[in-house]
Amino acid sequence: TLTLGIVGLPNVGKSTLFNALTRNDVLAANYPFATIEPNVGLVELPDARLGRLSEIFGSERILPATVSFVDIAGIVKGASEGEGMGNAFLANIREADAICQVVRAFADENVIHVDGEVNPATDISVINTELILADLQTVEKALPRLEKDARKDKALGEVLDETKKALEILSDDRTLFSAEKAGEIDLALLRDLHLMTAKPFLYVFNSDEEVLTDDAKKDELRALVAPADCVFLDAQTETELLELEADEAAELLEAVGQTEPGLHSLARAGFETLGLQTYLTAGPKESRAWTIHKGDTAPQAAGVIHSDFERGFIKAEIVSFEDLDAAGSMAEAKAQGKVRQEGKDYVMVDGDIVDFKFNV
Ligand code: GDP
Repeated sequence: TLTLGIVGLPNVGKSTLFNALTRNDVLAANYPFATIEPNVGLVELPDARLGRLSEIFGSERILPATVSFVDIAGIVKGASEGEGMGNAFLANIREADAICQVVRAFADENVIHVDGEVNPATDISVINTELILADLQTVEKALPRLEKDARKDKALGEVLDETKKALEILSDDRTLFSAEKAGEIDLALLRDLHLMTAKPFLYVFNSDEEVLTDDAKKDELRALVAPADCVFLDAQTETELLELEADEAAELLEAVGQTEPGLHSLARAGFETLGLQTYLTAGPKESRAWTIHKGDTAPQAAGVIHSDFERGFIKAEIVSFEDLDAAGSMAEAKAQGKVRQEGKDYVMVDGDIVDFKFNV
């Protein structure tokens, strides 16, 4: 399973958000280093299509896809030099597939800010600088060896060039992720270095009502992290929402100017950041979303259900959600010629409804 590692300065609301993500009682205390052990939280990917499918097929249950978050506590200035929980922190980040940075955008004089004031731009650069410094160490250590190896093995020339480029970008205090988005570097060549700022970034602005209802302010914050994606939510409200009945929850959301829970946006953005998509299966037993990578072929998608499905893959019977929804039943969709037969080279499209045919 691919995971997003939740990072952020102390007291920005990581534990509060993580509680909401897991509905667990992970310690949320108003002091630094309250959470040390990495923890995993799963959150469901909201998908309205599943409800409609269960209607069409009379499914007994609905199984949405999930997104996995790991709570990685302990970053402070100096983490790259082993300060605070520095080393453990970096080791945990290395294992995550994407970085989800929580940034404080709420005012509350009762909650101490480690730097004395709420300033999202500085907070973001403090964290990014630690990650960049750690990557710089990795790259500087790798370069002499690479230079030596590249003299013997011409194939390594490209890797060497890209590593030098990485050195330049990092020395400029920029993340490799943003440089790749700008088309400046090919990170695939640097995979063996396991660089942290090469991972996809997602930002969560833990906001108060003022920010949530202020579009200009949100645009400003969005611009701060572009080209990375970001989500605005109020971590405390998210926790409260989980304890409310649906109608009360809807009222509370409206009061803070939101149309859906922030956790839903977070799940979707997290899924997108990880480069994932879903396909759907449906029947009387269950309507279910399966997680695959963007670009996966039909046999790879079948392999997520069972490895035998991938090995014995014959073909996939596929109808798009829109076509099935409009037709109202599988029989009608077939009668309308909307059900396609796809072979082993077919690249899956998000929301494909699939019935795999295979040999065992
Ligand atoms: P962490 O150190 O990043 O894990 O931060 P915590 O989740 O422990 O939160 C630090 C303090 O800020 C706690 O007292 C929380 O109750 C409070 N807090 C978290 N999120 C919010 C928020 O959205 N608004 C306000 N006003 N306080 C929050």
